[in-house]
Amino acid sequence: MLKKPSELFFAALFFVLSTQGDLFAQDARFRSPLNGGSTVCGFNSTSCYSAGKYHSALDMISSDKNIYATNAGKIVAIVPNDLTTNNADHNMGNSIIIEHKAINPQGAMEILYSSYSHLESFSPGLYVNEAITKGEKLGVIGKTGGESCAGGCWGVHLHFEIKRAPVLHNPSGSGQYWGYMPGNAVNYGYIDPAWVVSPTGLTANGNDYAYWEFHGNSNNEGWSLINWSGWSVNGGTLFLDPSGNDPHIKSPELYVDASVLKYLKFSMASNAADGNGQIFFKTASENDYHENKKIDFTVQNNGQFKDYSIPLTHEKWTGKITGIRIDPATAGVGGTNADTIGWHWIKLSQNP
Ligand SMILES: [Zn+2]
Repeated sequence: MLKKPSELFFAALFFVLSTQGDLFAQDARFRSPLNGGSTVCGFNSTSCYSAGKYHSALDMISSDKNIYATNAGKIVAIVPNDLTTNNADHNMGNSIIIEHKAINPQGAMEILYSSYSHLESFSPGLYVNEAITKGEKLGVIGKTGGESCAGGCWGVHLHFEIKRAPVLHNPSGSGQYWGYMPGNAVNYGYIDPAWVVSPTGLTANGNDYAYWEFHGNSNNEGWSLINWSGWSVNGGTLFLDPSGNDPHIKSPELYVDASVLKYLKFSMASNAADGNGQIFFKTASENDYHENKKIDFTVQNNGQFKDYSIPLTHEKWTGKITGIRIDPATAGVGGTNADTIGWHWIKLSQNP
């Protein structure tokens, strides 16, 4: 059900307009670092290896022992296993860190780092500050660095991290964190790597869609809101009170393949006066929202949440998609509860 009027009015006090502006020019989607396989220790788990600390990675295994770069980028660290001369490897063994300019879990462009640890061996010809291509072989999974763990290790596996800073398991500089954080790993700039692999198992394609789930209160995840008198994010839903003509929301800047992503899916509720929905999109070659890149859809405007799956069949849905816009109604009434629109989630997907 939709919000009560008082809550919407309160939310209106905190209305801000979010903007995003980066442009970029590479395949920004990640793939899994392994082919096939499974996860044996999850992100933020406190149950494996180091009790009381949070695991900042996925521990992964596969019958194919090769490790692959999850995206194009630049190698920023190659750390050999060395437990005798210093603590530089923090018990993570042979490790590699790669810097990427890539799509984050919210669908926005960001500098992100992937790291790969416990490697048995490095592939030859890898050098710091040199470019690496997506899918290039980094080495072979192993168990270097972890032999001394007292609580029992997983044996041969890949410790795989995605983070917002190029540190190697040591966000505080004190050297005491070895792939485990004293608190929730997200608070140290880590991102759940499960987002680059499929939820049901690891795939060679990895993550290939942008999605937003509005799990963080007051965080609209980079969407720009146009012609609204108020909005809020709470309880896992983005709520909006449309105002005036042409209310709509615009995604953060994207850079995703039109040939792969063929459906815009969202869970939406509306009790707007009309049910005239439109999807606009922009592309790398026509980087503007325009009537010539529009797909109509019918909105169920009875106030109940409904899952939509809009086929993105349009002659201009081609090449790289740089943004999407959702117009859920023709007009809104500001500052009232006469009309309210909510989204549980929005995503671009391969399948209906
Ligand atoms: Zn691990």
